[in-house]
Amino acid sequence: MTLDIEEIKLSEKLQKMYKEFLIYVEQENVEFERTESKKLELQLKEKIQWLKRYLVHLEKGGKRIQAGADYWAQHQNHKLIIEYGEDEQGNIDQEILFLWCETCSDIVSSHIKKSDGNREFEKIKNHLGHEISPVREVQNNKKICLTCNHCMDNPLILCNEMSEWFNEI
Ligand SMILES: [Zn+2]
Ligand SMILES: [Zn+2]
Repeated sequence: MTLDIEEIKLSEKLQKMYKEFLIYVEQENVEFERTESKKLELQLKEKIQWLKRYLVHLEKGGKRIQAGADYWAQHQNHKLIIEYGEDEQGNIDQEILFLWCETCSDIVSSHIKKSDGNREFEKIKNHLGHEISPVREVQNNKKICLTCNHCMDNPLILCNEMSEWFNEI
């Protein structure tokens, strides 16, 4: 059995960071509005719990979370939006699109424009600035789709399959 040591270390670090942030929010909640602080606490607890299950999975030799569908699945019921990416200087980069989660203040996935004109980038770009929801397909629970809450006529943007193990943890 080979363990993904790099990913284990990274996840442990991330979990520690969230735990420290949670302690800070709990103790210093005077800085936040009460309901905001409660919401943040719940989100952090959710992330810590997920990482705990993910670490158990990794320590059993499990595979690493995949960019795309696995990340979409972690932000169900959150408020997502499509935005242009930024370069290191903080300038808008129109060659990159971010699927941004406003609930978590975090990048869910990034999509880069390729010279061979990849359709995924164009499909996402059509919904720039729109509010997006990740929705699981009913018939196939491994499949998750990005749907637009703004474009009622044609809401489906992209669908992808989640990792085999994802539902088990
Ligand atoms: Zn989120
Ligand atoms: Zn749209």
